[in-house]
Amino acid sequence: MRASKYFIKTMKETPAEAEVPSHVYLLRAGYIKKVAAGIYSYLPLGLRVLKNIENIIRKHMDEAGALEVLLPILTPAELWKETGRWDVYGKELFRLKDRHDRDFALGPTHEETITDLVRQTVRSYKDLPLNFYQIQTKFRDEARPRYGLIRGREFVMKDAYSFDISEEMAIKSYEIMKETYHKIFKELGLNYLMVEADVGAIGGKYSHEFVVMVPNGEAHIVYCENCGYAANVEAAKYEFELDKLPPEEEKPLEKVYTPDVKSVEDVTKFLNVKPNKIVKTLIYILDDGTPIAILVRGDRELNETKVLNYFGALDMHLATSEEMEKLGLVEGFVGPIGLDIPVYADRSIEDLHNFVVGANEKDYHYINVNMPRDFNPVDIVDFGTATEGDPCPVCKSPLKETTGLEVGHIFLLGTKYSEALKANFVDKDGKEKPIVMGCYGIGVSRLIAAAVEQNHDENGIIWTDNIAPFKLHILALNTKDKNIMEIAENIYNISRGLGIEVLLDDRDISPGAKFKDADLIGIPYRIIVGKGVKNGVVEFQRRKDNEKIEIPIDSVENKLKEIFGG
Ligand code: ATP
Ligand code: MG
Repeated sequence: MRASKYFIKTMKETPAEAEVPSHVYLLRAGYIKKVAAGIYSYLPLGLRVLKNIENIIRKHMDEAGALEVLLPILTPAELWKETGRWDVYGKELFRLKDRHDRDFALGPTHEETITDLVRQTVRSYKDLPLNFYQIQTKFRDEARPRYGLIRGREFVMKDAYSFDISEEMAIKSYEIMKETYHKIFKELGLNYLMVEADVGAIGGKYSHEFVVMVPNGEAHIVYCENCGYAANVEAAKYEFELDKLPPEEEKPLEKVYTPDVKSVEDVTKFLNVKPNKIVKTLIYILDDGTPIAILVRGDRELNETKVLNYFGALDMHLATSEEMEKLGLVEGFVGPIGLDIPVYADRSIEDLHNFVVGANEKDYHYINVNMPRDFNPVDIVDFGTATEGDPCPVCKSPLKETTGLEVGHIFLLGTKYSEALKANFVDKDGKEKPIVMGCYGIGVSRLIAAAVEQNHDENGIIWTDNIAPFKLHILALNTKDKNIMEIAENIYNISRGLGIEVLLDDRDISPGAKFKDADLIGIPYRIIVGKGVKNGVVEFQRRKDNEKIEIPIDSVENKLKEIFGG
C-alpha cells in the first residue's frame, strides 16, 4: 500500500476526552474516529487491526471444532422474557420498538438467541456436542462508556456457546475452549494471565477470565509467582495463617467514652490500638430492602461481590444516613452487641480477641470484645478482598497484586438457559434432559486497546507482529530524489513479492513528519531510504527499540526473508 493513496490522518494534539494511552494513540494515529460516547468508526488502519485479531481468533476457534454462525443483532423481547432477562438486564439493554409497537433489543450477548436456535434444531444426543461461535457487533448501554475501545456502547465480541449431553462432557468442552484461548492470546503476542473469576449468583467453579496485564487496568488480580495461582480479587479465596494474631486471654468487656471518634483511623489514635484489633460494622441494604450488618477487621477491605453472591442478591448499597437513622443506628458508633439486625462476620475476625467495636451509642465504643462471649454472628464467611502479601491459597507464598484488562471470559453455564428455554435432548436412555451449556466471550475490539495499553511509548503505538496493520513500513525520505524513490519502489516490490504487508510512505512531506507518523502508527519493522542510497545503503529499524542499523541495498531481500520467512 502506498501512503499517498491511503488514508493516513494523524493528529498532533491529544484529544481532550482521551484519558488513557490506547485512546489517545488510536485517535491520534488515525485508527478510529469518535461518533458519539462509546461509539467509534474504524478507519482503514483500524479495520486492518480488527480483522487481524478476528482472523487469529477465527483460526483457533475453527481448529477447536467450533462452527461459525451469524445471529441477528435485533432480537425479539419474547426471548428475553422467557429467561427473565428482559427485566434483569436493566438499563444496559438497548431496547426499541418496531412499527407494530413490538419490543426488541439490540443484542448485548446471545445466550437466548443461540439457545432458541438449538432448541429448534437439536433432538437427540446424537446431535451433540455442538459449539457455535460468531464474531459480531454487540450493544450495551454502559453506565460509563469510557477509554475509547475499552468500554464502548457498540463493540465487537467473539461469543461462543457449547452444548453437551452432561456436565462431564460440558467440562470437556470448557477445557477445550480454555486451551484455545491460551493459543489465541499467545498468537496475539500479549502478556496475559488466566485468572479464576467470580461465578456470580449461578455458582460452580468453572469460570476463568483472561486478563491482559496493563498498569491502571480495571481488573484487579492477585497472583502467585511461586505456583502460578492467579485470581480476580473478587474471586480470590485467601487464608490468614500468616496473618493470625497470637491467642490472648479474654479480658472483661468495657464500654469507653470516645467523643467524636468514628473512623478506624480515629479509633486507632484515640485508643492507641492497631487497626487489626478494631472491627468495622458495615450496614448494607440488600435489593429486597433487608438490612444486614457485616463485620470486617479494621485493616481489611470487604468484597461486595462476595457478599452479593452469598445472599444471592443482584444489588445492595451501604445504608445512607437517613436509612441508619430509621433503623435507630448511630452513625460512626455501630457495633454488633445488642444489634437488632442480623450480623455476619468476615473470616478476618474469626480468631480475634479483645477487639474494639462501636457501642450503638453516640460517643461510645466497647473494648475487649470477644466472640462468642459478647455476641454471636449468624455466620462467619469469606467476605474479604485479597491483597498483596496475603498467603496464596494453594502454596501459601505471599501473593502479588497487579491490574489488567479483561479480554476474555469463559463460563460453564450449566442448564440455566436450556431449562428456561426448554432446550432439551433425548438421551441414550430415552429420557428427555436439558442440554448443558458453556459460554465463551472475547472482547475483540477491546483487545485492540489492550494491545496498545501494553505496547506503546511516549511517541506512539508499538504493535506486536501479528496484530500490526502492516508489518513493514518503508520511509522514502525525499520524494523529489529519483534515486531514493527508485530504491524505495524496488524494496516495496520485493516486499510485496515476499507476501509482506507493507506500507510505503511516498507522501511529499518532510522526513521529520514521516518519522513522527511512523512512530505514532507503530508498524513493527521499518526501512528508511534516504541519503545513504548514494553509498548503497538503507537503514533498518525496529519500532520496539528504534535502533537503526545500516544495511547494503543488495542485502535487503535477505534481511526481509530472515525476518518474515519466505
Ligand atoms: P466487564 O466486567 O468489563 O463489563 P463483562 O463481564 O460485562 O465485562 P462479558 O459479558 O463477559 O463482559 O463479555 C465478554 C467480553 O467482552 C469481556 O471479557 C470484554 O473483553 C468484552 N466487553 C464487555 N463489555 C464491553 C464493552 N462495553 N466494550 C468493549 N468490550 C467489552
Ligand atoms: Mg459489563
